[in-house]
Amino acid sequence: NTVLVTGASGFIALHVIDLLLSKNYAVIGTARTQEKADSIVSRFKIKYPNANIKVVIVKDISIPNAFDDIFKSDKDIKFVIHVASPVDFTVKGDFEENFLKPAVNGTLNILNGIKNFAPQVTKLVITSSLAAIADLTRTNDKSFICSEKDWNPFTWEQSKGNILSAYAGSKKFAEKAAWDFLKNENPNFTLTTVTPPYVFGPQVFQEATEKPNGSSKVIFELFKKKDNQTDPDAFKDPNALSVDVRDIALLHVLAIENDYANKRLFAVQGKFSGQEILNLINEHFPELKGKIPKGVPNAVEDHHDHTFGYNCDATLKLTGIKLISLEKTVTDVVQQVLDYQKKT
Ligand code: NDP
Repeated sequence: NTVLVTGASGFIALHVIDLLLSKNYAVIGTARTQEKADSIVSRFKIKYPNANIKVVIVKDISIPNAFDDIFKSDKDIKFVIHVASPVDFTVKGDFEENFLKPAVNGTLNILNGIKNFAPQVTKLVITSSLAAIADLTRTNDKSFICSEKDWNPFTWEQSKGNILSAYAGSKKFAEKAAWDFLKNENPNFTLTTVTPPYVFGPQVFQEATEKPNGSSKVIFELFKKKDNQTDPDAFKDPNALSVDVRDIALLHVLAIENDYANKRLFAVQGKFSGQEILNLINEHFPELKGKIPKGVPNAVEDHHDHTFGYNCDATLKLTGIKLISLEKTVTDVVQQVLDYQKKT
C-alpha cells in the first residue's frame, strides 16, 4: 500500500512518514527541492534500511496541476495525506497571495489530481488546524469551548487583515474547499481532516533540534531564555492549547486505516502557557537550574483561567487514542536537545 505525503520536509509530515515506514507502508513524499528530497530519503534509509520511500519534487503545491504528474506515473498510490500548506509567519506582503490562495489552490490541486488521474485512491486525509475551528478573537474567553463542530467565523476579506487571520483563513478556506469538493463532485475517495492546536514534541531526526520549526520552536525558545522575570505575565504567552506531534501523526495514519469518512479529528492534550512549560522543565531537569528562567511558578492556574476551552471527546471516542501528556511532550523535547548537545 503506497501513501503519498505532501510537504515531506515538515515537522509533522516527517512524523507521519516515520510512522508509515515503521508499519511497512511504501511512501512517496513531496518536497520543494532536490536537496531536501535527498536528505529525507537518506535519513529514513539509515533509520529503516528496508524503507520503501522516495521523495519527488513539487516546487509549489499551488501551481496549477501540481500533483498530476505524480498521479499519472504512480498508479500504486492508494492513500493521500496532504500536509503541506503555507506556514511561514515571517513572510511579508500580500497575505491573500502568500497564505489564502496557495493553501486553497494546493488543496484543490490534490483533490483534482486524485479525481482526474488516480481513481484507485480510496482515502484522503488533510492536515487542517485549530485555526480553522476556533474564533481567534475569543481565545481569551473562558466561556468559549471549541470542538470539531466549529468553524472560525472569518470571511475571506477579514482573513486578509493580518498574518494570523490570514493563516487562520487559509486553513479554514482550504478545508472548506475540500468538503465542498466532496459534496459537489462525489469522488471515489473519502475525506478525513485533522485539526491540531499547537503541535509540540521531539523531532524525528535529532539534528533538526538545531533549527526547529514554528510550533516546535516555542519550547526551545523558553528554555533558551536566560532572564529570570518575576512578572507573572512574563511567560504567559503563548497561552493556548497543545498536542503531541506523535499523536497527530497517529491520527493521520489511523485515518487511512479506519473508516473515518467525513470526520474532522480534533485532539488536545490540554491548555498550556509558557510558564507551565518552564515549570515542567525546571521540575524534570535540575541540571538546568540557574541556566533557564523560573518565572512565577504558581501563575499557571491564573493563566488557564483566561483561555478558551475545548472538547475533543468525539475524536477520543472514535479513535480510542490516549493522548500523550504535556509533561511527557516537554520532557521528551528537552531530553532530545540535551542528548544531541552531548553528542556534538
Ligand atoms: P513545517 O513548516 O514544518 O511544514 C510545512 C510543510 O509545508 C513544509 O514541508 C513546507 O516545505 C511545505 N510547504 C509550505 N508551503 C508550501 C508550498 N507553497 N509548496 C510546497 N510545499 C509547501 O510546519 P508543520 O509541520 O507544523 O505544518 C504542517 C501542517 O500542519 C500545515 O498544514 C500546518 O498548517 C498544519 N498545522 C500545524 C500546526 C503546528 O502547530 N505545527 C498546528 C495546526 C496545523 P518547506 O520545508 O520547503 O518549507
